[in-house]
Amino acid sequence: MKSLTEHLWFNTSKRIEFINITGKVGELVKKSGIKEGLVLVNAMHITASVFINDNESGLIEDYREWLAKLVDPKGYYKHNLTGEDNAYAHLMRTIMGREVVVAVTDGKLDFGPWERIFYLELDGQRKKRVLVKVIGE
Ligand code: ZN
Repeated sequence: MKSLTEHLWFNTSKRIEFINITGKVGELVKKSGIKEGLVLVNAMHITASVFINDNESGLIEDYREWLAKLVDPKGYYKHNLTGEDNAYAHLMRTIMGREVVVAVTDGKLDFGPWERIFYLELDGQRKKRVLVKVIGE
């Protein structure tokens, strides 16, 4: 079995940002030389998510509004009594998930028609990373 482990680094200018990382993950699959296997992509921080959905700008805005309805960024949270102000980011991260696993078939990401991989920064403006691990043969 072969494997490749790498990190993608982010330092977003906004506190909440959606970043399509499909191309970068695809490049790492290519670099791995693996033809049949799996790729795991996970946020290495508890205030960021990795998820799969459509790369459509209206939908991204819908996600923003939906998350803000579920978790008011300016609400009262006990976590913020520690001196932090990112309780909303922890809660949103749990809603959007930690990681995705995508099949690698014939050396490529094996997606449904509109599937794309997103990094969702929820408490940005600092250096954060995503783990990409490709395993297979
Ligand atoms: Zn926190």
